[in-house]
Amino acid sequence: MMPVLEAKDMMVFYENAIAINNVSLGCHRGRITGIFGANSAGKSTLMYTISGIILDVKKKEKMRGGERITVLGKLIYEGKNIIYMEPSMRAREGIILCPERRRIFNESSVMENLRIGGILATRDQAKKTLDRVFTMFPALKNLKRREGGFLSGGEQQMLAISRALMAQPKVLLLDEPLLGLSPAIEEVLTDAIVEINREMGITILISEQYARSILPIIHYGYVLENGGAVLEGNSQELMDNPDVKSAYFGI
Ligand code: ATP
Repeated sequence: MMPVLEAKDMMVFYENAIAINNVSLGCHRGRITGIFGANSAGKSTLMYTISGIILDVKKKEKMRGGERITVLGKLIYEGKNIIYMEPSMRAREGIILCPERRRIFNESSVMENLRIGGILATRDQAKKTLDRVFTMFPALKNLKRREGGFLSGGEQQMLAISRALMAQPKVLLLDEPLLGLSPAIEEVLTDAIVEINREMGITILISEQYARSILPIIHYGYVLENGGAVLEGNSQELMDNPDVKSAYFGI
């Protein structure tokens, strides 16, 4: 089967520094694909390149006369190369990023954040998704009027994921969703990610630095090192790999 989303020979440079080095990877429909790597391995750059946000960063840098960002290679989505497609168009086509460090709107309430996420959804879709996220995260339901900035880190991440779901993703990109959260919250979020995949049928690409709780739930994954994909395999293969074990499980 062809992947629904496929990066081919993708390269990204910040000025002359290489951030993504010839990466090829595929996400299959209905599956969870993992990207694992240490600090500055290139996970966020990869997510920015797939969501297209990198093109906005590139424009801004250009206006400021700042560093030159170069993107090369192909990104095939549903059979079309979208590497130069605007991020807003990609979102309309169903590629939705839930960015690292949450980036919710701090001055807006939980409900406002969710409404903004669902701005392109139909009324019916928005209603269904709202019900769904409040069932998945009952904690959020009691905080509808609370400003984003006053939520705990875990609640903010629940909100960030919910806001992304409101945008009706076909492919959901989750950039380090567990970053800086307690083991108890990690578990809630990991269960939610499985539910989003299995029950809502959404294809997921997820990046993490510490693979411990995410490795078991992925179908297939890639290990990034210095911007290059150095290893790939299914969940079990990666968990059994001695390098992965020592890097991510400390054994
Ligand atoms: P982290 O876990 O720290 O977020 P990461 O795996 O997401 O790391 P990236 O943020 O994608 O890694 O960074 C990849 C490389 O590109 C790093 O060497 C980083 O310093 C560099 N880099 C990232 N953003 C920029 C930028 N705007 N300008 C210049 N270099 C950048």
